[in-house]
Amino acid sequence: MSQTPPAANSPLANAHAQLAAAVDHLGYDAGLHAHLQTPRREAHVAVPLRTDSGDLKLFRGYRVQHNISRGPAKGGLRYSPDVDIDEVRALAMWMTWKCAVVDIPYGGAKGGVDIDPGEHSQRELERVTRRYTSELMPLLGPNTDIMAPDMGTDEQTMAWVMDTYSVAVGHTTPAVVTGKPIAVGGSLGRAEATSAGVVQATEAALRERGEKIVGKTIAIQGFGKVGAHAADIFAAKGARVVAVSDVHGGVRAEGGLDVARLLLHVAATGTVVGFDGGDPCSNTEILALDVDVLVPAAKENVLDEVTAATVRAPLVVEGANGPTTTAGDAILTRNGITVVPDILANAGGVVVSYFEWVQATQYFWWTAAEVAQRLEQRMVTAFGAVAELAQRDGLTLREAANVIAVKRVAEAHQLRGLYP
Ligand code: GLU
Repeated sequence: MSQTPPAANSPLANAHAQLAAAVDHLGYDAGLHAHLQTPRREAHVAVPLRTDSGDLKLFRGYRVQHNISRGPAKGGLRYSPDVDIDEVRALAMWMTWKCAVVDIPYGGAKGGVDIDPGEHSQRELERVTRRYTSELMPLLGPNTDIMAPDMGTDEQTMAWVMDTYSVAVGHTTPAVVTGKPIAVGGSLGRAEATSAGVVQATEAALRERGEKIVGKTIAIQGFGKVGAHAADIFAAKGARVVAVSDVHGGVRAEGGLDVARLLLHVAATGTVVGFDGGDPCSNTEILALDVDVLVPAAKENVLDEVTAATVRAPLVVEGANGPTTTAGDAILTRNGITVVPDILANAGGVVVSYFEWVQATQYFWWTAAEVAQRLEQRMVTAFGAVAELAQRDGLTLREAANVIAVKRVAEAHQLRGLYP
């Protein structure tokens, strides 16, 4: 393992620590550990942009294919000014375990460009997306590497990736991306799939304790693609969403927020801040509220050794990727808090990405009800297997999820053997 060690407490350091724990539990040797940790392929590309005003700007782009032992590389594309290669490596590794824990036939990948999408016009974002895709052409394809939206990207971004790829190969290839608009081969139910999965994971965790979702109080940090839909679904199931926040701040109401009205406010203003149906609440305060369920659905490393100690919710369901640091995780465990880990809790997105890819490959589309029912079945099965192993071996749900995932990937690798 000759890679430079990741910065302490970085998402990659956390991902490495989680893998090391699983490898230790499974009794794998150092060679297999190195193989499981090291990305299979990495691309670093320069992404130049001619801005609308005629200036030249340069961004850095990455695509990491962490592992392809179980199938094509799969994972999102993130646009954020903080993106760097180590963050993309961590997110790609988590995709490998995520696909394995819900048993879909993919490896893991992630892409990123260090651009702030809020600072650019749609035309500029289109040029950046097309140039990035074009630089990565040799790596992409419906059987090799399939992108999807992540933070800062959306359905439109995927339509541009799909079009750029399709024009280059000379035929329309809807299965090269997932999370694309329905009109160009997207799947019903994909847009809200991650959130639906988060709610199903929450319900499964509550069922383990003999409890139900109805009447439960929920706090959600992050009101983007994952958090906003989750709030809506939680409310529809009779839970009380008592606080939400986004990058600008948060809002809380002990009796429960009127989520439908809040969504209208966000559509009109772009933020939850200023909503008249509650009181202001900061992004740190929201983590410490006395609620039944806390859903961190924003970004990495928000539950660290300081904030984790303030958590009062008995159940944390990770909507974001990597929201808890290694030190934060130890504190939550010590305090008896159950954590449904990211690779399980937010896997609904990639599960329906898989369904979208299957449909797009066969040019045969399913009904919304079929998608929803198959998603729930996968989430419930995966949760059950993780909870059972956790119980049997005295592990946390995170440890158990990682053990199941790492074992599946190692098994595929060992059965295939090494070439030459
Ligand atoms: N970006 C999402 C994730 O982190 C979805 C990935 C996908 O659908 O490929 O899980």
